[in-house]
Amino acid sequence: MRYVLLGPPGAGKGTQAAILSEKLGIPHISTGDLFRANIGEGTPLGKEAKSYIDAGKLVPTDVTARMVEDRLSQEDAQDGFLLDGFPRTVEQAEILEKLLANKGTKLDGVVNFEVSEDVVVERMLSRGRADDNEETIRTRLGVYRDETHPLIEHYGDIILPVKAEGSVEEINERTLQAMGK
Ligand code: AMP
Repeated sequence: MRYVLLGPPGAGKGTQAAILSEKLGIPHISTGDLFRANIGEGTPLGKEAKSYIDAGKLVPTDVTARMVEDRLSQEDAQDGFLLDGFPRTVEQAEILEKLLANKGTKLDGVVNFEVSEDVVVERMLSRGRADDNEETIRTRLGVYRDETHPLIEHYGDIILPVKAEGSVEEINERTLQAMGK
């Protein structure tokens, strides 16, 4: 069970991933959470990533990809994972593909959470994260449109669309259904 969760910032990927991780027994791997943990611990990786995150920009791909490769090589991720926040660009998707191919595996699907811009802005403003101020939100939505949205076409056939408006439970049911679980 190897899945990528795709969608704009504020689509509820993290919330859904936490529930799915529990139900499916596979780890939730969030690049945003990994960066925030590194920032909290004051690691060199955290120091490098912080200015990009605070500005709502993408952390350079080489740094991000190394972190993901390291996480995916850990024991608990060998039989499956829910990747949340990676890939965010076509370049990152190609890196992931190679990484998985080297292990003789590939993605089972890419869940795409579909949600309107009004709803994502509302959700982001209500969660109160350090990088959730209005200007940064605008930047992140722009990055999403320009760099991440093209992944929907890139993944084509393996995209599993999920309408991500409504209650957390409703969205979770739709997601499991889309995954065939
Ligand atoms: P998230 O928690 O997924 O919204 O990510 C928070 C921030 O972490 C983003 O705005 C980026 O600055 C950074 N980030 C997370 N994932 C990636 C990625 N795949 N590539 C580059 N930067 C990322």
